[in-house]
Amino acid sequence: MRCKAQLESAAQRKTRAHHQIDMSQITGFSDVRIAEVECKSVLNKSALADYTVNCYAGCEHGCCYCYARFATRFSHPGEPWGNFVDVKVNAPQILAREVRRKRIGTVFISSVCDGWQPWEASYRLTRQCLEILLHYGYPLTILTKSTLAGRDLDLLSSKVGVDFGVTITTLDEELCRLIEPGGSPPIERLALLEEARMRGVRTYAFLGPLLPYLSDIEGSLVPLLKALKDVGVDYFYIDRLNPRFGVWASVKNLLQEHFPHLIGEYRKILFDERVRREYSQQIISAVNLLAKKQGLDGKMRLCFWALLQI
Ligand code: SF4
Repeated sequence: MRCKAQLESAAQRKTRAHHQIDMSQITGFSDVRIAEVECKSVLNKSALADYTVNCYAGCEHGCCYCYARFATRFSHPGEPWGNFVDVKVNAPQILAREVRRKRIGTVFISSVCDGWQPWEASYRLTRQCLEILLHYGYPLTILTKSTLAGRDLDLLSSKVGVDFGVTITTLDEELCRLIEPGGSPPIERLALLEEARMRGVRTYAFLGPLLPYLSDIEGSLVPLLKALKDVGVDYFYIDRLNPRFGVWASVKNLLQEHFPHLIGEYRKILFDERVRREYSQQIISAVNLLAKKQGLDGKMRLCFWALLQI
């Protein structure tokens, strides 16, 4: 890792020490801005589970459909998603205090970042938080796109109350690089899931969001579902694309550059309520049927947002 170590003045961001770092060797992005910050809380209430833990704000994976942009809309206005990360360097210390006084509940790791994005390799914050949560008996639901999470499977091995998930939206590596540029290749994500299962961890895959005409088509779903069957996941989620804060602008940019013929269809699916509802029902039925054919009967779940909005 090369570090240009350009520190921004403390006055510009009171508690932050900024380091401009060349991440091109790691993520394919250039000039990802890293800032070390102090957080006041890390075990936060959530609609996804009882709590979430996010040791980072911002995510180098830079997925085009990521709705976590909303979480940094005030702290990083106008900065391209994927080009900055705030590292909550005191997260383990804060968590160690919080777990002693908060009610035990399920913790989702992570909701607005990938806890195993590249900088976790050196900061090890998510790992330290895992150790604390496991020590205090908090059930965990984990979701990542990074094979770095394999480093921490030693902590999760045969643990009751842990669900380990990996997002996989397509097995097409080229499409994957376009929509999830910083995530590990899909084949490596599958291998990570398999390793987790072999270590006695309950595993799931997150198929979402499925992108209309790209990853929601039979030609994409069948090999993916077959791979999940081979890996032996306990269950899988599907989700649809949601045009939340900043997502449509980002997806539209991608479509304009690579799939301009799909822009009109996406507009209808995202913004015409009737079409959206029909599309949602169709995708649920189609995936359900394909999953049955692949021997994954009864393993499909709708994600939180789909349940709320359909
Ligand atoms: S890995 Fe998750 S949090 Fe990170 S950019 Fe992708 S969708 Fe967003």
